[in-house]
Parts: sequence; structure tokens; C-alpha cells
Amino acid sequence: MLWLAIGPFRAMENQVLVIRIKIPNSGAVDWTVHSGPQLLFRDVLDVIGQVLPEATTTAFEYEDEDGDRITVRSDEEMKAMLSYYYSTVMEQQVNGQLIEPLQIFPRACKPPGERNIHGLKVNTRAGPSQHTSPAISDSLPSNSLKKSSAELKKILANGQMNEQDIRYRDTLGHGNGGTVYKAYHVPSGKILAVKVILLDITLELQKQIMSELEILYKCDSSYIIGFYGAFFVENRISICTEYMDGGSLDVYRKIPEHVLGRIAAAVVKGLTYLWSLKILHRDVKPSNMLVNTKGQVKLCDFGVSTQLVNSIAKTYVGTNAYMAPERISGEQYGIHSDVWSLGISFMEDSPVLPAGEFSHPFVHFITQCMRKQPKERPAPEELMGHPFIMQFNDGNSTVVSMWVCRELEERRSQQGPS
Ligand code: ATP
Ligand code: MG
Repeated sequence: MLWLAIGPFRAMENQVLVIRIKIPNSGAVDWTVHSGPQLLFRDVLDVIGQVLPEATTTAFEYEDEDGDRITVRSDEEMKAMLSYYYSTVMEQQVNGQLIEPLQIFPRACKPPGERNIHGLKVNTRAGPSQHTSPAISDSLPSNSLKKSSAELKKILANGQMNEQDIRYRDTLGHGNGGTVYKAYHVPSGKILAVKVILLDITLELQKQIMSELEILYKCDSSYIIGFYGAFFVENRISICTEYMDGGSLDVYRKIPEHVLGRIAAAVVKGLTYLWSLKILHRDVKPSNMLVNTKGQVKLCDFGVSTQLVNSIAKTYVGTNAYMAPERISGEQYGIHSDVWSLGISFMEDSPVLPAGEFSHPFVHFITQCMRKQPKERPAPEELMGHPFIMQFNDGNSTVVSMWVCRELEERRSQQGPS
């Protein structure tokens, strides 16, 4: 249980945990737990036994962010559930939202009996799925929707996302092309990241960009930032995407190899996904790799719209340190060029490379990605199969989540009270 007593959950540790036990075909019972992180699987089963004395419950389920049910049958699985729940609490706190109870679903239970020695109160309010503000995926085209091209055109033409519905809050950062804001989408109650780029271009080119961006609706990968829509107002385009509360990798200090490895595995999967759709990223770099307190890693700012890339390039000044040599010298750009940028990104974000401090697979991975000859760099399947990626390709988002939370906590404590 040590992992719960340290780092990101320190702040959570003293908080009361409310577990909402859902009763099949009935209401729900809220159970207030004062020692959340110390909670054992047995404790939960005991309480379920109090709530549903006639049923024999041996397991329960919770819902992940996609609404998929995940079964809990052991302390290990309890840990994973609590870790997931605390990361959602952290996100709700960061976004200033109401903290939702942890909702669990006892498996194969009969209706509740009379016994209730814990003095639990039946929750008469609507369940969380009804009283949370509608998720953006309910009302807007989410990245998991497989809509027809005609439907997508309609959505874009109707401007499901529009300036009137958006309240800009903080500035998240400035890039060469534009500025990214944290924003509140009023109809859905969702926090977004909105990138605003000034573009003095014709209406014709604006339309071309909007149509090129359509493919973003079809991107469906947990390693790619969710796209909610884009719109032009006068001479600027606003591109609305999922907000990542951990921000981009460039603002983090040295990243330990076991965390970097998990991040690298996610980035390779994101790139492999894009390449499978015949999309080259064209701008792989730490500021385009985003993380959140759930431990997810997602790629953003990939070049789906040639016209947008060209229009931004016209105003672009300076050099891009992550560009592959062949690109700098004006030769053809391909998957290999993305691979170079991948290598240099992780070399930069890792601790300085003194001999002996890095594992052999890590050094080999970087060296292979940064071969001068594009064709000598690993192909997508070789990247996935590389020992460095294989070693960390365990989908352990808790490692990344804990690291992000700890870093954010440290950043906040350095900034002092605001
Ligand atoms: P460039 O313009 O050269 O690509 P950049 O990637 O740093 O540089 P932007 O893409 O404008 O510039 O992003 C600015 C900053 O905004 C990023 O560095 C990142 O920290 C933050 N940011 C971008 N998108 C998001 C997002 N979806 N969620 C949270 N933060 C984001
Ligand atoms: Mg960027």
C-alpha cells in the first residue's frame, strides 16, 4: 500500500472517500469512508454484504472513462480502481468541478434487505450519470464516432463548436503558429484546449482547411488528442481539443527512464496509429506530447491539413531543432522523418546521457531513431518491437499518473499560495 501513502495521493489521503454502491433496479447507497487509501477489497465486500444481505457478492465493478465496466476481485484490482478514481478527482479539482463519488456495481446481487448496521443513507438524488453535466461525447462529435463524410460535413457546416459557446480562461502557452487557451464550453460544461491561429487567407483556403480537418473526427485512438471541432472567425481559426491537465512534456524536468519508457511506448503507438491512417505527424516534439493526471499520453498538432501547415509555415520564423536532416535540406519527408524527431525528443527529455546511467535498450533506441540515413531508422513495427518499447509496453498508466501528479504538486508548492 506504500504507493498510496506517497506522492500524488498525499493530498487525497486525508480526504473522505464516498463510495456509491449501486443497487440493481433500485437506487444507490452512499458509503463514506474515512481511510480511503487503506481500504481493502474485503472491507468493500463486507459493506456490500450489509447493503445486499440476501445476495452473495464476490466481486464488483466500476466504470472507466469510456463507460466500460471493470471488475474488481482483489486488493490489486482495488488499488487500480482507487488510483483511477483519485486521478479523476484530481482532474475534477483542477477543473473546479464537483467531486463525484466513486460508483461501484455489485455483481449478481439481489435487492437490498433490511440490515444496515453502518447506518448508510440511501441516495435519493439522481445517479452520477444523470447529474454530471453531459459529456462532450453526448452532444458533440467525439473522436470515437464513426460518422459518414456527409454527416461530418454537416456538422462542420453547422458549426457545432462556435465562439459564442466558449469562454476563454487561462493561456496555456504560445507557439510559433498561435496561442492555446484553456476554455470552458458552456453547453457541455466541459473544459477544452482551444488553439487560436491568426491566418490571413482567402475564404476558399479557409474552406479547404475545414474540409482537411474532417479526418480528425475519425481519429479514434487513446494516444491521440480528442478533437471537438474547429471554426473560423474573421481571420483566425480556433481548433478545439481535449484539455490535458498535465500539459506538454517540454515543461517537465528530467524524466526518469521508467516513466519515459511508458511515455515513449504511448507515443510510438500514437505515431503508428497516425501512420496507419497515412498521416505523417510532421511536428513530433515534446511540446506536442501531452500528459494528464490519469497517466494518459497523447499526441497533438499533427499535420492533417496541408493547407493549414502551409499557411502557418508562411509566417513561421526560426528553426525547428527536432527536424530530421533530410527535411532541413529540403528532401522528401516520410515516416522516417517522424522517427528522427521521436528519437531527438526523448533524448532531450531524458536526463543528460552520461555513460553507464542509461540502459542499453534506451541508448540503442535513440541511436537507431537518429540514424542519418532515413531508411536505416526503424520502421513502425520495428519501433513497437524494440526492447526499450517492449520493456515498458505494459499499459501501466499508474506510473505516469503518479509522476504527473507529483510534478504538478511540486510545481504548485513552488509557486506558493496564489
Ligand atoms: P509550435 O507552435 O512550434 O508547435 P508549441 O507546441 O509549444 O510550439 P502550441 O502548439 O501553440 O505551441 O502550444 C502551446 C502550449 O500549449 C504547449 O506547449 C502546451 O503546453 C499547451 N497545450 C497545447 N495543447 C494543449 C492541450 N490540449 N491541453 C493542455 N495544454 C496544451
Ligand atoms: Mg504544439
